[in-house]
Amino acid sequence: MNLLDEVTALCKRRGIIYPNSEIYGGIGGFYDYGPVGVEMKNNLKRYWWKYMVDKRENVVGIDGTIITHPKVWEASGHVKNFGDEVVECKNCHQRFRPEDIDGKCPKCGHKEFTSPRSYNLLFSTEVGVIEDAKMKAYLRGEACQTIYLDFKNVVDSTRQQIPFSIAQIGKAFRNEITPGKLTFRSREFEQWDMQFFVHPNDMQKYFDYWKEERMNFYKSLYRKPENLRFHQHDKEHLAFYAKDAYDIEYNAPWGWAENEGIHWRGDYDLTQHSKFSGADLTYTDPATGEKFIPNIVETSGGVDRTFLMLLLDAYEVEALDNGSQRTVLKVNKEIAAYRAAIFPLVNNKEDIVNKAREIFDNLSDKYKIVWDSRGNIGKRYRYQDEIGTPYCITVDYQTLEDDTVTIRDRDTMEQHRVKIADIEKDIA
Ligand code: ATP
Repeated sequence: MNLLDEVTALCKRRGIIYPNSEIYGGIGGFYDYGPVGVEMKNNLKRYWWKYMVDKRENVVGIDGTIITHPKVWEASGHVKNFGDEVVECKNCHQRFRPEDIDGKCPKCGHKEFTSPRSYNLLFSTEVGVIEDAKMKAYLRGEACQTIYLDFKNVVDSTRQQIPFSIAQIGKAFRNEITPGKLTFRSREFEQWDMQFFVHPNDMQKYFDYWKEERMNFYKSLYRKPENLRFHQHDKEHLAFYAKDAYDIEYNAPWGWAENEGIHWRGDYDLTQHSKFSGADLTYTDPATGEKFIPNIVETSGGVDRTFLMLLLDAYEVEALDNGSQRTVLKVNKEIAAYRAAIFPLVNNKEDIVNKAREIFDNLSDKYKIVWDSRGNIGKRYRYQDEIGTPYCITVDYQTLEDDTVTIRDRDTMEQHRVKIADIEKDIA
């Protein structure tokens, strides 16, 4: 089995990611996060928010809707241009993006295809209940558009002045032709986006700044930073309004793959929305009185893609001294679903269970903790290793005598005894 298959199997086995609607045979490109996965994903989003919003005085957040006025997607160019090319295998009739076929059909090996046809990725729906008053609308194809729509509201309702930024984490929908590689290319996914509004003269400075900042973010998150690199878009692939763009790529088992884009959007977005809506989106500098359309540096990444790449980065199968092996997720402890697991050594000794419960309750004020009293301690370690729990805390007979517990480290498997009062510090 290759790494992606192993990680996919682990996700299903341990409640990290499940295929959506599985009892109906599944639906391509849609996934659910299970009990372990939802904790990890929430931690990941919090990690981003802390890095991008909480620690900066000039970044504020919003939470915009998935359905907007349909004109938004005309102004943005998505109704006309948000497409991919699709070719169809003449033998098995599967459809692919031309860049995914490499001369022969990935499904059946046949070498003849239809000529490429373009295909719009926007999902559409209808708003309104009365048949002839229904309005065609779209599920947002990228989260950032709601940021542009709220730009003026944020300027008018907060103390922010340019340069400042609006951040958002939210769902986006794309009717991808070839969803696959677990959540790497899905049809419903989440993006973390930041749009930094600046004076046109300051674009280069902030473009360079955010490019480095975003790389630093990913380096702080992954275990193997050597698997990250920049890829600069060549001129012919740049959006027509963009002066420069870089992808941050991760070295996935199938090759370097985009994790996030840093885009020089210039004044394109606010100019388009001014034109299509009629609203004046110029900004007046309060100090100089200068009026201008703010320029934008965008950082736009995929939460689900980062999540998947984190799993690939963290997954290890290790040989143990006794000849067996363990699967372990050596994931950043800020992202792990649980900071620690509490093991009462035995289930039938009330003093031990009560002591363990007390520790669980106290630690839960600060961390997400999981309780595990099933099976022997070795089995419990194996299970927690697979979901990446950094620490396992065992309450045993000695605890009743001297108020100490055993803490076992996920990565080194070393164990040491710690006073109950010192646990919180020890697992920090
Ligand atoms: P790709 O070229 O891989 O389709 P993109 O360049 O179209 O990606 P952007 O429009 O720049 O992607 O979106 C920003 C981020 O959103 C991407 O870097 C990626 O992490 C994430 N993303 C885009 N499409 C998907 C998808 N179908 N499934 C999961 N994440 C996605």
